[in-house]
Amino acid sequence: MEIKITRAAALKEKPDSSTLVFGKAMTDHMFIADYDEGQGWHDPRIVPYGPLQIDPAAKVLHYAEEIFEGLKAYRTADGSIQLFRPRDNIARMNESAERVCLPQIPEELALAGITRLVELEQDWVPSEKDTSLYIRPFMIGLDAALGVHASHHVQYIVVVCPVGAYYPEGLNPVKIYVEEKDVRAVKGGTGMAKTGGNYAASLRASDLAEKEGYSQVLWLDGVHRKYIEEVGSMNVMFKVSGKILTPDLNGSVLDGITRRSCIQLLKDWGYEVEERRISAEELFAAAENGALEEAWGTGTAAVVSPIGELAMGDKKVTVSGNQIGEITQKLYDELTGIQWGRVADPHGWIMKL
Ligand SMILES: *Cc1c(COP(=O)(O)O)cnc(C)c1O
Repeated sequence: MEIKITRAAALKEKPDSSTLVFGKAMTDHMFIADYDEGQGWHDPRIVPYGPLQIDPAAKVLHYAEEIFEGLKAYRTADGSIQLFRPRDNIARMNESAERVCLPQIPEELALAGITRLVELEQDWVPSEKDTSLYIRPFMIGLDAALGVHASHHVQYIVVVCPVGAYYPEGLNPVKIYVEEKDVRAVKGGTGMAKTGGNYAASLRASDLAEKEGYSQVLWLDGVHRKYIEEVGSMNVMFKVSGKILTPDLNGSVLDGITRRSCIQLLKDWGYEVEERRISAEELFAAAENGALEEAWGTGTAAVVSPIGELAMGDKKVTVSGNQIGEITQKLYDELTGIQWGRVADPHGWIMKL
């Protein structure tokens, strides 16, 4: 499919790479493709970045008929640009689409939207340490009618923005509290889909957590309110008595690509990885008897994020002496090494542009 390119009349000034705020400095162009039932996907194009014109009755605005992805383009030491497992993001986007009745998008079209836009915006891919170009593909249902039905007119859009290190001061352990009132997702709901509504449901708890001095919440399952699911918008892993534990993909946990990659690396290194139900009670007991050695979140934005303190009700425990743990650091170094092309990529995760 040919992609029509309309260039911006004037280019923006690029921001200073040392002071980038996540998700704010959008580039000069964006990719859009339309879908209409009966016609399929059509008119893929790159146009100047700018506001969308959306009918106020469009379904996305009322019923959150929206899904998204997040990945990055990395500049390597030789100046080339590469992506990390982009086909996994597209496969997941199609799984999310299925859950909220948005159409499937052919992998090659979704991927071309990403690669052609990044190529056009290549001067926006920063080269300072730990910086990258964040890529946000999303799909929205646009039928202009307030009835609750799946849309027949849909757009797939890709926007990109340079981002700095998620934690500019370096990998510092964060404080987390176990959320016992709100839940993010339930089995049978949309927890395994990357859809905007899940995030709306999570805002109140994370707001409260921040006010109490915590950086994220640890979500419990929505049915028993006992089992650990995720941390903020990341998957979560624990090292307990030398073994790695992570919640299984039970239907309400998002199947993170960083999670997948960490599990593979951990197995490569000879660790036993258990994907299973983990209750908050089990975790706190392990912390209290010294068996909990490390805890960290995993996600594209931060890669891995060490957890230094966990609180539930009036219980508080420190993890790894509030220092970054050895495996947490090793995972961070290995994954970022592969992503920026500093270390070998034995699993074929890298796609060069
Ligand atoms: C995107 C996301 C993750 C992390 O997925 P990655 O593919 O590793 O970036 C984890 N949990 C939630 C709820 C997410 O939306």
